[in-house]
Amino acid sequence: MSTTSIVSSKNVCVIGAGPSGLVAARELRKEKHNVVVIEQNHDVGGQWLYQPNVKVEDPLGKNPFLKVHSSAYASLRLTSPREIMGYSDFPFVIKKGRDMRRFPGHAELLLYLKDFCDEFGIRELIRFNTRVDYVGILLHEFDGSCKDLKWIVRSQEKMSGIVVEEVYDAVVVATGHYSQPWLPRIKGMDVWKRKQMHSHIYRIPEPFRDEVVVVVGNSHSGQDISMELVNVAKDIHLSTKSVAHILPGLSKVISKYDTLHLHPQIESLQEDGRVIFEDGSWITADTIIYCTGYSYSFPFLDTKGIVSIDENRVGPLFEHTFPPSLAPSLSFIGIPRKIIALPFFESQAIWVAQLLSGKKKLPSQDEMMLSIKEFYHSREVAGIPKRYTHELADFEYCDKYADYVGFQHLEEWRKDLCISAVINSLENLETYRDSYDDNEMLQEAYQSPHFKQAI
Ligand SMILES: Cc1cc2nc3c(=O)[nH]c(=O)nc-3n(C[C@H](O)[C@H](O)[C@H](O)COP(=O)(O)OP(=O)(O)OC[C@H]3O[C@@H](n4cnc5c(N)ncnc54)[C@H](O)[C@@H]3O)c2cc1C
Repeated sequence: MSTTSIVSSKNVCVIGAGPSGLVAARELRKEKHNVVVIEQNHDVGGQWLYQPNVKVEDPLGKNPFLKVHSSAYASLRLTSPREIMGYSDFPFVIKKGRDMRRFPGHAELLLYLKDFCDEFGIRELIRFNTRVDYVGILLHEFDGSCKDLKWIVRSQEKMSGIVVEEVYDAVVVATGHYSQPWLPRIKGMDVWKRKQMHSHIYRIPEPFRDEVVVVVGNSHSGQDISMELVNVAKDIHLSTKSVAHILPGLSKVISKYDTLHLHPQIESLQEDGRVIFEDGSWITADTIIYCTGYSYSFPFLDTKGIVSIDENRVGPLFEHTFPPSLAPSLSFIGIPRKIIALPFFESQAIWVAQLLSGKKKLPSQDEMMLSIKEFYHSREVAGIPKRYTHELADFEYCDKYADYVGFQHLEEWRKDLCISAVINSLENLETYRDSYDDNEMLQEAYQSPHFKQAI
């Protein structure tokens, strides 16, 4: 990667003021770009801005432009300890009078993000209550290369309805990917007349009091929601892809509660309310909650087919960030899953900012395309379905990525605390957020420069 001394500032539009967009704004401004962040909600935070009113949303989230962004439920707590979460220079410290738990509730992360905005003066860059409806290439400037590419960004202010069309040198898409429900195809889904909803709009257990509920999917949300429904619903039937591969933590929970039952996948739904499972067993349910995950979705983005979503693979994207033929003018922050999110987003933001200013250079388009193809091939060989292209779960990858911009590698204590929490959760699903055995690692974290800088 060569460097050059020609440094220029660009007019950059960042879409979204969640953890990705906020750090993008900071890094872009640091690099002397003119930044506008457009955010559809009334405040910062993205997923962490809890939205209690879900009545406005289709229960299965069938609209391409959703009305509710956050999928956070009232009881949601972080799955990873707070110490590993913070941006590199802004640790997620415990504050008196707030949620002081190591695995705090969603509101605490929102407060952290608000503190981040205050510390770095980011709010002044954000246009709230404004939704981006269209992003497209300014065609008369487009000669098929990424040189001097410009973007039309059309947005609408929610209250006034005023539509604004602007031209930017670069667009950073930071709109998240935990909002658009992904639904399985199940025979009879259309004829089953009772309540069907996606966990995207699940908020509290009370509406399910005394109901028979089928929870589909046993990933984080499916587990959390099932565990909270055991105290309220009449019966919970958890349907999983593979009954044989249930982890010990979940097994313990299932054997503890008489009202929680495990089932294989659903074979079909019947008009009379029956839910038939693949092993032939059946129950009559009041509600089905699909905790089946989310799809990438950029309903506003028109790249003339250059970037597309194929079985939840957004591509082609060099290092999950840049479409080679539009780079670095168009970039995506926050696409990877199963990473330590905030520091990774920060490294992406630094790279985008420095590429736009000309401080750094990308490889040629051909080289980037080759790298993407090699990556796809390596995943295929490893038997990883296309759908999981952006699920990384790989610290080495994060370090390699950091090397592009000279960003620090993940500290060993971050990796260790992360792994320790994952292992604990696999064994002790109900208690891992309140009972842990990682004090030595924790002390190491507190003695590290990351935490010392906060004193
Ligand atoms: C239930 C749940 C639990 C989670 N738990 C954890 C956890 O414990 N730890 C963890 O690290 N991560 C967790 N996550 C993942 C979480 O999404 C990320 O931590 C993080 O919020 C991603 O940040 P982001 O900025 O990329 O996206 P988001 O937080 O989703 O922010 C995107 C922003 O873009 C805005 N936006 C979208 N479209 C438009 C548009 N057209 N115009 C204008 N603005 C737009 C949205 O309003 C939003 O503010 C969880 C997610 C969910 C759903």
